[in-house]
Amino acid sequence: MSFANLDLKAMKEWRRAIHQNPELGFEEFNTSRLVTDCLRSWGYEVHTGLAVTGVVGQLVFGDGSGPRLGLRADMDALPLQEQTSLPWQSRTPGKMHACGHDGHTAILLGAAKALAGSHATGTGMGNGTLNLIFQPAEEVGGGGGAQRMMEEGLFDRFPCDAVFGLHNMPGTPVGQCFFRSGPFMCSSDKVNIRFTGKGGHGAMPQLALDPTQPLAATVQGLQSLIGRNIDPLHCGVISVGRIAAGESYNIIPEQAELDLSVRALQPQVRDILCQRIKALAEHQAQAYDCTVQIRYEAGYPVLINSEAETRLVEAVAIEVFGVDNVDANGAPLTASEDFAYMLEQVPGCYLMIGNGDNGYTDGARLGPCSVHNPHYDFNDECLSGGGQLWVKLAERYFSRR
Ligand SMILES: [Zn+2]
Ligand SMILES: [Zn+2]
Repeated sequence: MSFANLDLKAMKEWRRAIHQNPELGFEEFNTSRLVTDCLRSWGYEVHTGLAVTGVVGQLVFGDGSGPRLGLRADMDALPLQEQTSLPWQSRTPGKMHACGHDGHTAILLGAAKALAGSHATGTGMGNGTLNLIFQPAEEVGGGGGAQRMMEEGLFDRFPCDAVFGLHNMPGTPVGQCFFRSGPFMCSSDKVNIRFTGKGGHGAMPQLALDPTQPLAATVQGLQSLIGRNIDPLHCGVISVGRIAAGESYNIIPEQAELDLSVRALQPQVRDILCQRIKALAEHQAQAYDCTVQIRYEAGYPVLINSEAETRLVEAVAIEVFGVDNVDANGAPLTASEDFAYMLEQVPGCYLMIGNGDNGYTDGARLGPCSVHNPHYDFNDECLSGGGQLWVKLAERYFSRR
């Protein structure tokens, strides 16, 4: 495996420095500064301040007449207390890089440095414009940094003909990757449903209107929307995350509410679920003589990889990881990603690279551990494969037309 001139030592240092100093969405000031300083020192034209802390580094190859490529990394951490006891563990109580965005940023920085080297020597590259997009606030809940960068003119100021992004995947061995053309990750919507009846004494229900009745009927009915309204070969998820009603056993509450997480892998399934959840709750309210208020908050859309760009990733990934380690028909995921917004405007591909089984506790391996777990750590063994993937993808992209 060739290493595409990656500075692996520096990549590891950046990764651990970012890990030690985790910053939440739209507060990635130090991370953003590190990225900016690096890119400037390598000759990139650097633009800061998109979506507060977002950074775009631009480099023009050849006469600039070729295609315009976007590579994206996310920079934000999570509000979580780290429990790894690793030497580079978080120095900020209650904040942690538990999703590996420290690694994604280091991978893109490593590729940036290698590509700047090719730019300086003029070797191996054709014509084109490289846009490196470092975005804030990917995590759901205060996130949506990609969307905000776009609202602030990302693709108007830095037009891209294709965009690519990656995420680490614990449980998949290091040196393997997977992705697929078409829908790859689910949309994620949040729904609050509040039924209002008429409070009263538990002994005299005939004088009250009990809002727990339509609530219970709605909870029961929700899974039938998945079972009866959605094509069995399609994917939809409705999870009840919160139910709240009442204060005491002998008081019929005035209100009862529930919060749902709703996910879909096809935009049409997302629409059907939205429509049917509203209809179900409204009709249950009516059936029990209550009223209902429904707040449907649209979150990240379905992430859809385009065919041509996915085939490009496949070719490059096979070159980097070997044909046996690339699953170009990978299973879709029920998680969501705000890179989906970018893919709504620009064709491209999002892929997963294996992070291995590296949960840690007291510095020792704990075993398989998912992202968003306090024992998780990004695996530095992934830096090489991820960095090579971006470098070789840029080389191919600029030289193929
Ligand atoms: Zn995450
Ligand atoms: Zn993440």
